[in-house]
Amino acid sequence: MKKLAINGGKKIRNEKFPAYNTIGDEEREAVLRVLDNGKLSRYLGAWHEDFRGGEEVRALEEEWAKYFGVKHAISVNSATSGLYCAVGAAGIGLGDEVIVSPYTMSASATAPLIYNAVPVFADIDPEYFIIDPESLEERITERTKAIIVVDIYGHPYDADKINEIAKKHNLIVIEDAAQAPGAMYKGKMAGTLGDMGVYSLNYHKHIHSGEGGIIVTNNDELADKLRLIRNHAEAVLPGKGYDDLTNMIGYNYRMTELEAAVAREQLRKLPGLLDSRLENVKYINEALKDLPFLQLPKVMDDCKHAYYVHGIKYDEEVAGVSRSKFVEAVKAELMEFELRETEGVKIGAGYVKPLYLLPIYQNKIAYGEDGFPFNQECYKDVDYSKGICPVCEDMHFSQMITHEFMVPSMTIDDMDDFINAINKVWENIDELK
Ligand SMILES: *Cc1c(COP(=O)(O)O)cnc(C)c1O
Repeated sequence: MKKLAINGGKKIRNEKFPAYNTIGDEEREAVLRVLDNGKLSRYLGAWHEDFRGGEEVRALEEEWAKYFGVKHAISVNSATSGLYCAVGAAGIGLGDEVIVSPYTMSASATAPLIYNAVPVFADIDPEYFIIDPESLEERITERTKAIIVVDIYGHPYDADKINEIAKKHNLIVIEDAAQAPGAMYKGKMAGTLGDMGVYSLNYHKHIHSGEGGIIVTNNDELADKLRLIRNHAEAVLPGKGYDDLTNMIGYNYRMTELEAAVAREQLRKLPGLLDSRLENVKYINEALKDLPFLQLPKVMDDCKHAYYVHGIKYDEEVAGVSRSKFVEAVKAELMEFELRETEGVKIGAGYVKPLYLLPIYQNKIAYGEDGFPFNQECYKDVDYSKGICPVCEDMHFSQMITHEFMVPSMTIDDMDDFINAINKVWENIDELK
């Protein structure tokens, strides 16, 4: 009789895991406060007192800036919009290249395309999965205008090294901190380490308002441009007396008062939620540290990780079975999270596919059917072939396992079920051969 659930044995767990739901009475009251006053949004797309939104939006921006120790916080309706604003404010356009990590959510790389520039992918570091400074420097050309660094999984990018490279080559640094609110690099908050930083408030993130994003910067001029792009720049400029028209097509990326009110409450919960994540990671790491086929996440000196996901490297040679078989066997022992049943058991192999392997880059089709902007002479040397970022491909195709059994809703018993599932599959690994 076989023991593993994937082979018909008894599962470790038959009950769903508790939902990671940070929404409570505070958010309910905040939403009611807005509903009761009837001002669900108070923006005007004109140079006017309401150009910067209503009370909740402004209060959120003030509180966010204070918490993260930065001069300006600008709310938007998603981190994706925030990245698009940041690339726009950086003055990027046709003929420019932006260096990006391929191991991230797709929007980090589409941001340059919105402004007719192209992403150029640099490889990642095999220990921290953040962009590798050496690979990045190799990809710099005379067309490079900016870098989009990603604090992937919640680990801040290597700011000292990358900012120095950026300074040397006069590049703007945009930090995608969607997965890293509260992470720290040498005493500074992730998100505030580059010229502009972007946080996400989408449903899957540490804290959320359903959808939402925040851009931060210490630069007054960039802040001005970000606010303009967020809110119908072209219509606002004449009244504002602003004469640089570069990238001043405005969008409507505005956050509503409802989301801002929720986000304010969520921000207050962030420190506690982060502490509890870190404690849970410590517990799981301690329990798994002696398994010879797993390598637990490392954290750079003087850094604080925010653990959006817990990324573990898997050694197929030591384990003796493929990563996908191993992950499928662990999944079979466990259950879904409440509220997120549709997402399946929250452990996966590979994280995201290196972005250059997406059809948009493989076929070089973005705007229209002819391949603009990739088809422009200035981009003839931009390469998206398989093999350009071998470390990233190795993480995706063979080594990486990510899971979320360290979210704050997990009890010790819940985490023990996860740990026992891993141990059980390891002890019975011959059943998978
Ligand atoms: C979630 C995420 C985004 C996009 O956030 P939205 O608010 O959903 O637009 C961008 N980058 C990274 C790294 C993310 O994890």
